[in-house]
Amino acid sequence: MNPFDLSGHVSVVTGGNSGIGLAMADALAAAGAGVCVWGTSETRNAEAAGQLKRHGTGVLALRCDVSDEDQVEAAMSRTMEHFGRLDSCFANAGVSAGGIRFTDTSLAEFRRVTSVNLDGTFLTLRAAARRMLDQGEGGSLVATSSLAAKQGQPRGQAYAASKGALISMVNSIAVELARHHIRANAILPGWVSTPLADPALNSDGFQRRVLPRMPVGRWGRPDDFGSVAVYLASPASAFHTADALTIDGGYACF
Ligand code: NAP
Repeated sequence: MNPFDLSGHVSVVTGGNSGIGLAMADALAAAGAGVCVWGTSETRNAEAAGQLKRHGTGVLALRCDVSDEDQVEAAMSRTMEHFGRLDSCFANAGVSAGGIRFTDTSLAEFRRVTSVNLDGTFLTLRAAARRMLDQGEGGSLVATSSLAAKQGQPRGQAYAASKGALISMVNSIAVELARHHIRANAILPGWVSTPLADPALNSDGFQRRVLPRMPVGRWGRPDDFGSVAVYLASPASAFHTADALTIDGGYACF
């Protein structure tokens, strides 16, 4: 038996129309899973669905702002109507920090970030967990956190706080739902070239000061996250829960 064969498996990937989420969705579909991607941009959703369909599995792309409770509930209901089941959910949608000094950060700016990164992940994983409990066959919940959960991010307190909170939330979900065979883990990417991070990664300061500190000698690529998504969705990770997997090319320890 191939533990990485996801035939018959259904995954939701929020923020699955771009960057890390799209690479996760692509790898899940390549492994045989039906995949539903959620994002706010109709255009990017349509492009992502077109790309994912080449694997021949079921694909659906839904417009959903994960910070809106009604939209998350509606998207989850639509996902279940379409696929009839849910086996893994990757709460990956996120927005970056605004680059504003801590002392100048307004509460509105703080909430702009946490409403997507933290509230959105809570709403998504709660909706997924409810369906998995109803189904009674277990499942895998995954949140995309960040190395910023552990390292200080100047001008990024809202981002770092939201990502740190995801690790705590995932651990608590994992302990509570383990008896239902529902696992929960967080992924902590380091610096990865995506539309979200590229403005920083392409800057002079990052090229001079950060890139030389990457032991692997390059920025991460979205497809560095495909295999870990397949692993966490699959029975290969049946005993792996309540963990925070750092995938950063060695940056954090250098
Ligand atoms: P990306 O390519 O810009 O992707 C962000 C995704 O989030 C897009 O698909 C976007 O879709 C979606 N999104 C944003 N706001 C949303 C909302 N309110 N509702 C639903 N979807 C929303 O950036 P990425 O780097 O792959 O980011 C993916 C995750 O990795 C994020 O959680 C980010 O914080 C995390 N991360 C990234 C890095 C890095 O270096 N790139 C490092 C650590 C952690 P729409 O635009 O269509 O809404």
